[in-house]
Amino acid sequence: MPRHRGTYNPENHEAYELSRSRIENFVKCPACFYLTQVKGIKFPSIPGFNINEATDVLLKRDFDKYRGTKTTHDFLINLGMEHLVPFDHPDFELWTQSMHFGAKGRMHFVHEASNLKVGGGLDDVWFNTKTEQLHIVDYKSTSQKTEGMEITLQDKWKAAYKRQMDLYVWVMQKKGFNVSSTGYFLYCDGDRFSNYSFLKQQEATMKFKMSLLPYEVDFGWIEPTLMKIKDCLNQTSCPNHHEECEYGQFLVALNI
Ligand code: SF4
Repeated sequence: MPRHRGTYNPENHEAYELSRSRIENFVKCPACFYLTQVKGIKFPSIPGFNINEATDVLLKRDFDKYRGTKTTHDFLINLGMEHLVPFDHPDFELWTQSMHFGAKGRMHFVHEASNLKVGGGLDDVWFNTKTEQLHIVDYKSTSQKTEGMEITLQDKWKAAYKRQMDLYVWVMQKKGFNVSSTGYFLYCDGDRFSNYSFLKQQEATMKFKMSLLPYEVDFGWIEPTLMKIKDCLNQTSCPNHHEECEYGQFLVALNI
């Protein structure tokens, strides 16, 4: 049987590949998920977040200098966390590739009860020399609009970030790695308040305030959600529009 991805095919008995962003789509709106995965309707694309992507590339490049060594980055040493060292593994680069995650060696796991192959792309993994466990690390970028506000994980919309971490730790544990239940979010906050010159003679330099936020994962939602996804994929009709979705209410009003 060929790989089972893209539009869902109930005749294909290979595990159906779902990235964590598709799983997040289901959590947010089963109707959107169904229309995309079962009906093959492509939703309008949105432009990429290129500056966020650039901070990811630069952070990884900095941590790569210490990958597999016995020392770590000054940022972690300064926080008293010199026991966290960027982890090296023959498949590490494959784990960071979210596109085509289904291929061999990548960051995925087949959940047999739902026959879903779930995974994604990691930003980083750090090895804890004290506990000999791995920590999954996710880089995030923002620029806070209120001066002096500390970065936290409290905002309601950051539940998606937490689910991302839950899923990645779960997959890596299922792959057999000794992964800690504590993940880390490394936040870059583009500083728009401090008094510094942004524009130089030929270039501009933005400063970022950095925060490292630990997070204790919660696996409780994962398997029930995968089972609901399986049921949704095999439904013959589209679930109702989500009651809190303004677009959905609009379409219901139009009787679409
Ligand atoms: S309109 Fe709203 S509720 Fe309907 S499918 Fe799209 S996001 Fe979901």
